[in-house]
Amino acid sequence: MKKYDVIIIGSGAAGMLAAITAARRGKNVLLLEKLSKLGAKLKATGGGRCNLTNTLPNEEFMARFGKEGRFMTPALEAFDHKKVQTFFEEIGVESHAPDGYRIFPTTHNAGTILSALEEQMKKLGVEVICSQRVDELIFNEESMKGVKTQEKSYYAPHVIIATGGLGYPVLGAEGDGYPLAESVGHKVTELFPAMMPLKVKENWVENCRADTIAKVELRVNLPKLKKLQAKGDLIFTKNGIRGPVVLDFAREVTPLIARYGEVPLLLNMTKGMNEEQIFVHLKKELDKESSQTTLDLLKTLLPESLSRALCTLSGADPQLGFNKLSGVNRAELIKLLAWTPLTVTGHEGFKMAMITRGGVSLKEIRPETMESKVLKGLFFCGEVMNLDGPCGGYNLQWSFASGYLAGLHC
Ligand SMILES: Cc1cc2nc3c(=O)[nH]c(=O)nc-3n(C[C@H](O)[C@H](O)[C@H](O)COP(=O)(O)OP(=O)(O)OC[C@H]3O[C@@H](n4cnc5c(N)ncnc54)[C@H](O)[C@@H]3O)c2cc1C
Repeated sequence: MKKYDVIIIGSGAAGMLAAITAARRGKNVLLLEKLSKLGAKLKATGGGRCNLTNTLPNEEFMARFGKEGRFMTPALEAFDHKKVQTFFEEIGVESHAPDGYRIFPTTHNAGTILSALEEQMKKLGVEVICSQRVDELIFNEESMKGVKTQEKSYYAPHVIIATGGLGYPVLGAEGDGYPLAESVGHKVTELFPAMMPLKVKENWVENCRADTIAKVELRVNLPKLKKLQAKGDLIFTKNGIRGPVVLDFAREVTPLIARYGEVPLLLNMTKGMNEEQIFVHLKKELDKESSQTTLDLLKTLLPESLSRALCTLSGADPQLGFNKLSGVNRAELIKLLAWTPLTVTGHEGFKMAMITRGGVSLKEIRPETMESKVLKGLFFCGEVMNLDGPCGGYNLQWSFASGYLAGLHC
């Protein structure tokens, strides 16, 4: 029976980084992957372009993960975005930040990253077995002993759980790591899908489909939660909203949907203008050409379909001149232009979630090594842990950094 130094469960960004790091230390590494190919999710990242990481300093980076973010301090100190870039450069992948913030491989092809990691593992002699789903951990009271798949058992004193979360299950992550962690006594927090489109109650969005609205400000309109806000591009869909700002905001909203059923939002789609500024803007436009209809006037701020929808909502006739509208209609229209209400009622669940909010509780994991405090020899890395960041390379950076630490200490 072959004995390994380390068994890694899962060939995502975290698992492969851990495998390479451990193998570079001379460890005899076995990587088990349940799918027939490695790194399926990694290959799909960034729309196939792979937003590897970003240029934010560590403090700011961690702040974007919320109150749990500080857990990442040792991992980021050991393997920050510069180290990620250097690591990939050393294995033959150049990267750059075209917008000065988000870092991509210069090929803008996630396949380049995956091939380089695979090649590196091969060079280092990492043994990779695909189509092997780990179902059980083997351990005694003192330490880890190995893992069991449906076919056979594999033995090692160190096991790294790198199974990812629950999002996009077709790409392999189906939450297998949670029961594995629980089997040795770890706690798993509540789990919510994050980073996905949201469904809304209002039917008018359907008519505004495919319009991209830049720099939209989103707010939760619930007492004590008004501080929950985000800004960015938004796109209306057949039954809801999507786009970068929605992806980021979804992680705040899904726990609220679970709690309240519906979540009222307010949207500012007029580049942050308040009611007074909107009135001044419309008045200025009107002065240029007094024969303008209300619709023409609104089109100076918003796409036509959205302008029409807001006219209908406010009861204003889009073909009338703005000055001819009743005072009530005018006031309502301006109010809606400043803050348009929408009610989030649901989402597609984990099927469309790029990220899982929640995971293995951080309280029982050592941040300096990623080792379990519950059982010697058990390690975690990547999304399986209770940490999730917004869009922009945050989640891959965390996977790489935690994978690096786990590989260094196993
Ligand atoms: C479509 C999409 C695009 C994204 N784009 C970006 C982006 O551009 N930038 C960014 O930072 N983040 C992005 N993310 C998020 C990011 O991909 C993940 O956070 C990150 O890949 C998680 O890596 P991981 O190694 O922890 O898990 P995963 O990549 O999910 O890997 C886990 C692996 O474990 C395997 N596995 C699971 N259970 C078992 C088991 N029981 N036995 C054996 N193997 C098992 C799975 O098959 C899988 O291969 C994106 C996510 C999605 C879905």
